[in-house]
Amino acid sequence: MKIVLPDSAKFVINTLEDNGFECFVVGGCVRDILSDRKVHDWDFTTSATPDEIISCFTSYTTIDIGKRFGTICVVIDGENFEITTYRTDGEYEDSRHPETVTFSKNLKDDLSRRDFTVNAMAYNDRVGLVDEFDGLKDLQYGVVRCVGEPDVRFTEDALRIIRALRFASTYGYSIEPKTSESILKNKDKLSLVACERVVVELNKLLCGDHVDFILRRYKDVIATIIPEISIMFNFDQKSLHHNKDLWRHTVSAVKNTPKNEVLRTAMLLHDLGKPMTVSTDKDGHCHFHNHPKLSAAMATTVLKRLKYPTAFINTVNTLIENHDNRLTPQSAVVKRCLCDLGEENMRNLLSIQRADILAQSMYKREEKLSTLEAVYNEFERVISSGECYSLDTLAVNGKDIIHLGVQSGQLIGEVLSKLLDKVIKDELKNEKEELLFFARHYIDSVEGMR
Ligand code: ATP
Ligand code: MG
Repeated sequence: MKIVLPDSAKFVINTLEDNGFECFVVGGCVRDILSDRKVHDWDFTTSATPDEIISCFTSYTTIDIGKRFGTICVVIDGENFEITTYRTDGEYEDSRHPETVTFSKNLKDDLSRRDFTVNAMAYNDRVGLVDEFDGLKDLQYGVVRCVGEPDVRFTEDALRIIRALRFASTYGYSIEPKTSESILKNKDKLSLVACERVVVELNKLLCGDHVDFILRRYKDVIATIIPEISIMFNFDQKSLHHNKDLWRHTVSAVKNTPKNEVLRTAMLLHDLGKPMTVSTDKDGHCHFHNHPKLSAAMATTVLKRLKYPTAFINTVNTLIENHDNRLTPQSAVVKRCLCDLGEENMRNLLSIQRADILAQSMYKREEKLSTLEAVYNEFERVISSGECYSLDTLAVNGKDIIHLGVQSGQLIGEVLSKLLDKVIKDELKNEKEELLFFARHYIDSVEGMR
């Protein structure tokens, strides 16, 4: 396949070459262009040192984003290009980042330090494709294979373990047997890697098309990051609603969920509390009372430990806590849920509920799906009709209640939520006069009782 570089990439390469240096595009962008995928960022590797790179681009803004590791960012027409000096990585401490790097004048040194053969190819128009490790063949067959000895490479930097699974999940690659064996053998080293780095890869892995295969085959690797999931492995749910053990159900639910980090993480952890809440009835069927609440609490613990952003954790928590809510298509039920969760969370809730149902047995499936669809239709109707379901759109506000002579903040809140409740249940129209009339009576009756 012919590689066509964008003009901006050609410009970077030509500028360095005109100054007597070598320069190539390298890594993910070469892999992606050879697979006919859109390239999201062009990375360059060069024989120039960081100071030499800067001196070649004096008329452009350059940003030192890691001079010690050899990386300079050049801004051309508002676009950032990362240019890194050929380097070999020095000693690794505890399977983390290299402590030191050594710059080199040899492209092969730089390609040898890269993780997988498909990520270790370089290209420029003058030399063509530089493929020292048969990356093109692995790309054609869809294989993740370590550059060099897998045990050595995973020991140097254990992040590569989860990166291998990420590439397999997103691109459907298979993992070469020796690399795969080494992943399982070295999996515990992942716990040495900074969790921020692991989470970036885990999120990408979860959003892959082939996530189901990876979560099944490499569940023990994922369990080194989230040990709590082990309790789901082979857990027999003994329920008419389920024909899979808890982990296989979870994996299938993740796969059925839209490719979104928050939603897929919520699905990964949605039933974590089931084994701890199980009870068995006289017919031998299992029940899991209150498991959503426990699962949500456990998920929050996991995600806090892995330093996820607070907003991410809160959304996952809300979705898990509500994942088993049996919604019905009545307007009042839908509006109450909208009021409690907000539009975006409720839309997401409906989509994970669908994924959950599709990961269950066929028992009552049609019934569950058609109820869910009716709920969804009612949800869309409420949204597009502009009918009131929250305090924001209630026809009276706190000031109106104060005008009725109420001073206590608590009573104002109580009156407003009573009014909203009546509007949601369609017992009162969302009209100012009618609401104020009811509010006056309500306040009188409350004050009379006090
Ligand atoms: P993506 O398309 O997600 O950006 P990528 O392969 O470009 O995938 P990056 O993290 O951007 O991934 O890394 C760029 C390149 O740097 C890789 O293609 C690989 O050659 C090299 N690389 C990245 N991380 C490592 C690592 N931990 N060990 C060795 N080489 C790595
Ligand atoms: Mg990249």
